[in-house]
Amino acid sequence: ATPTSIMVGTGRAAESGILFKGGGHLERTHELDAIVLDKTGTITKGKPEVTDFTGDQETLQLLASAEKGSEHPLAEAIVAYATERESEFVNVDEFSAIPGHGIQATIGGKQILVGNRKLMNDHDVIVSDYEDDMIQLETDGKTAMLIAVDGEYRGTIAVADTIKETAPQAIRELQEQGLEVIMLTGDNERTAQAIARQVGIDQVIAEVLPEEKADKVKEIQLQGKKVGMVGDGVNDAPALVTADIGIAIGTGTEVAIEAADVTILGGELLLIPKAIKISHASIRNIR
Ligand code: ADP
Ligand code: MG
Repeated sequence: ATPTSIMVGTGRAAESGILFKGGGHLERTHELDAIVLDKTGTITKGKPEVTDFTGDQETLQLLASAEKGSEHPLAEAIVAYATERESEFVNVDEFSAIPGHGIQATIGGKQILVGNRKLMNDHDVIVSDYEDDMIQLETDGKTAMLIAVDGEYRGTIAVADTIKETAPQAIRELQEQGLEVIMLTGDNERTAQAIARQVGIDQVIAEVLPEEKADKVKEIQLQGKKVGMVGDGVNDAPALVTADIGIAIGTGTEVAIEAADVTILGGELLLIPKAIKISHASIRNIR
């Protein structure tokens, strides 16, 4: 009764909110050795909020106006923060996003940079005096961004994202099922470690550029492991395709859902150990 048990399994999964694109994916799910999870929007709710800002009113105006051109969740948090403070938005003459680094904009002849240390280093902005504050913010699990205007440091803005309430339990269940659990993120190492600690993950791969996420999955596969990759973002799509099983967060982007083999509705992480349980049960019925 091979095809029957697979059909029953995919049906049972669907009833729970686990949508397999085909029976083959359900069968292969039981072979997984490792689960790789994206951080923002997968482990966390993906709705970051500004917690700290050290710049002046003008800096906020420039920073928020520049971020209006970005679709990044970090940008949304900054725009919301400026809006709450009734900061005005001004016309942006030029804008570019630098993936994994931040953004660059020109406003009224001024050059604005917002992003991480790498971005500042690439533009020769000296930020070493603010390193202690950055470390403090990151140790608290916040994502800290530096702001420069015309090559001069003008402030730091930090955001925090809350972890999904069920994330620690879901990760514990996966570990109890014998799976290796790994966090993969573009965010800073220290911030990533702080979030990982909160959810019980001890393996972290941080500061990964969007285009490198798939390579990291491949590296784990080269260790002889079958990898399940869980993600929500456009930049997770290549990694979802590369993984043995790509698992999309239902609340994530359409691109991620299309790239994946399975979608978990509502982004409920407990559905991942459940999918593995259902897969094992279906396989047992076959043998
Ligand atoms: P994540 O995996 O968390 O989505 P990204 O690869 O998108 O990470 O970004 C990595 C880092 O680049 C961020 O932690 C931040 O420091 C910086 N960054 C990216 N986009 C922006 C932005 N719009 N504004 C400021 N900083 C940004
Ligand atoms: Mg994400």
